[in-house]
Amino acid sequence: MVKYETDKVMTWCSNCGNFGIQNALTRALVLEDMERNDFLLCFDIGCNGNAADKFEAYTIHGLHGRVISLAAGAALANERMKVIAFAGDGATFSEGVNHLVHGIRNNYNMVFIHHNNENYGLTIGQASACTRKGVKMNGTMDGVVVDPINPVEFALNMGPSFVARGYSGNVDQLTDIMRAALNHKGFAFVEVLQACPTYNRSTPDAWYGERMKDISELKGYDRGNLEQARRVAADMDKDIYSGILYVNESKQDLLSLQKSREGAKTQLVDEVKFYDVSELM
Ligand code: SF4
Repeated sequence: MVKYETDKVMTWCSNCGNFGIQNALTRALVLEDMERNDFLLCFDIGCNGNAADKFEAYTIHGLHGRVISLAAGAALANERMKVIAFAGDGATFSEGVNHLVHGIRNNYNMVFIHHNNENYGLTIGQASACTRKGVKMNGTMDGVVVDPINPVEFALNMGPSFVARGYSGNVDQLTDIMRAALNHKGFAFVEVLQACPTYNRSTPDAWYGERMKDISELKGYDRGNLEQARRVAADMDKDIYSGILYVNESKQDLLSLQKSREGAKTQLVDEVKFYDVSELM
């Protein structure tokens, strides 16, 4: 674990679910024996993004809602590094939802960790597109009046190659999910449900603790069956299943589909050259 630690002090509130997510990621990277130059961490704006300078690794802190496009560019340029992107529910399903659609559809070879605390925590607790109906937040004092987006259901409807749901309170399972995501060739969508004890009182850890179920305990579950995954993912209130919910290994990532890259021995980043355009000017 020491491998990626810095002496910077983490600024998250105590008992924030982000600690569990950071812990699982660090464990997954160590268990996969990844050195610092084997991966790139790309952070969006949000509480999750405050981890950007807390890893002794290559990190980028991008614009709000744009982390998938930023990370996809890096993933296309250099497949020698595993690109891992992070964004909260605000950035993912409001500012940047268009990027998620095309990230999944194009199956960029990257991991996307979706921190879902069901609110905009960094800006002191406004409702996001994932806040539950009826919940009172700053700015919606009478309660949210529309139904929330279910992130896993959304991802399953975009033709994905890998969809998982974890919970920040189950670090062992989340570590396994992240290890599988790191080894997946294509866009690995990982939703992580997490408590925000400071601003979202509707779904504390005790609430999740009563409802989270491991998909490995569901008899006959087939992670290659999209319809079954959709049925299981729909329940976000009673039995909330976590684990790797869907995998389609036959879907190729975008670069693998490019005729121009067939037989290429170099990465795109190796092929960057200077061209003299002064005559054209
Ligand atoms: Fe965590 Fe919520 Fe505090 Fe943000 S506001 S650091 S999500 S507890």
